[in-house]
Amino acid sequence: MTPAAPTAAIRQLAALAQHGDLSSYAHQIQRLGGCERPIRMEGHRLDVHAATGEVVWEITDRDLPAGQLLIRCNNRRATRCASCAEVYRKDTFHLVTAGLSGGKGIGPAVAQHPSVFATFTAPSFGPVHNRPGGGRCRCGCLHPEDDPALGTPLDPDRYDYRAAVLWNAHAGKLDGPDGAEDAPPAWATAELLTDAIRSAARLAETPGPVLDGHAYAFRFGEQLDIRPIRSADFAGTSELSSRAVAAYIAKYATKGAETAGTLDRPIRNPITDLIGSGVTDHARRMILTCWHLGALPELEDLRLRKWAHMLGFRGHFSTKSRAYSVTLGALRQERADHNEALARERAAEASHPLPDPGTVLVLRHWRFAGTGLTAAEAWLAATREPDAGAEGEPAHG
Ligand SMILES: [Zn+2]
Ligand SMILES: [Zn+2]
Repeated sequence: MTPAAPTAAIRQLAALAQHGDLSSYAHQIQRLGGCERPIRMEGHRLDVHAATGEVVWEITDRDLPAGQLLIRCNNRRATRCASCAEVYRKDTFHLVTAGLSGGKGIGPAVAQHPSVFATFTAPSFGPVHNRPGGGRCRCGCLHPEDDPALGTPLDPDRYDYRAAVLWNAHAGKLDGPDGAEDAPPAWATAELLTDAIRSAARLAETPGPVLDGHAYAFRFGEQLDIRPIRSADFAGTSELSSRAVAAYIAKYATKGAETAGTLDRPIRNPITDLIGSGVTDHARRMILTCWHLGALPELEDLRLRKWAHMLGFRGHFSTKSRAYSVTLGALRQERADHNEALARERAAEASHPLPDPGTVLVLRHWRFAGTGLTAAEAWLAATREPDAGAEGEPAHG
């Protein structure tokens, strides 16, 4: 169904239609492939023949129907941009799958490597609402599985928010060393790997700051879940397939903020940003603790105010050892190359072949001019099928 266009949007669209620009405008929006919060750029691009200095092609922001170059936001969070989050989810799925089963340039032999899906936990910072054995919580309730209260403190005033925030801020340091693509030795079984992870998790400790005479040190919590992963042709006995693991991680990658009850963007002012934001009481306390600790000069390097919306965690959503699988960058480059090849094919079909990239210098001067779609653009986006093809600068010709 076509959504109703707001009055302002109708006026803008009517003005454009009079100039006959509406279809090219719609096309520029379609090229965003459904991105809801594109990045807007002002500037120009000049393609110059390397040998002669002749300008082969030129485009400026004024030539573009939106008056600006629009590029996809590439945000991984579904609450920020469903379309870009979906691309991120698929890329993450391929990355994990390639690392477990091969493909995308990774040899199929990796499928024979022992692998496990290990879930580490933070230590306890105070009693929380939970479902021991799926049963009754200490508060007396039978919490449903999706109850947002789960994992939040029974008594917030006695919960160690300071340690919780500092643990989050140091979690990235608990990440392991680089992996290796070599074949594992015959004795390296999934059982041995499980034992090694158990003892490593028990021993791992990273030093923290000294605050009010208390020297913080960070360790993992007692709960540790390790399950062997079964690759397509791996004859182990396990319930987890590599595809199930990849799908789980990929789905989780596009969530995060909403499952933790926090905000999906950095906080500038905790007072105004938190009012009416739907942030849970627990997340609010974590955020305010970050804000408070973020003012301490001795914690300056943790940048707790910048990462307050992440409850202190300042790492990437996902990290991997260098030798594991392909990279997200390589997957994005593959997509860009594919789009470039498509653009070349289309231009050749339209008898405007693109110049050989080896003979042309591309000079780009684009600067940030804002984010998002205007009301008219949002309406155009909602009424047209997104184009899966190239985004950004239009093709020559
Ligand atoms: Zn987007
Ligand atoms: Zn409870």
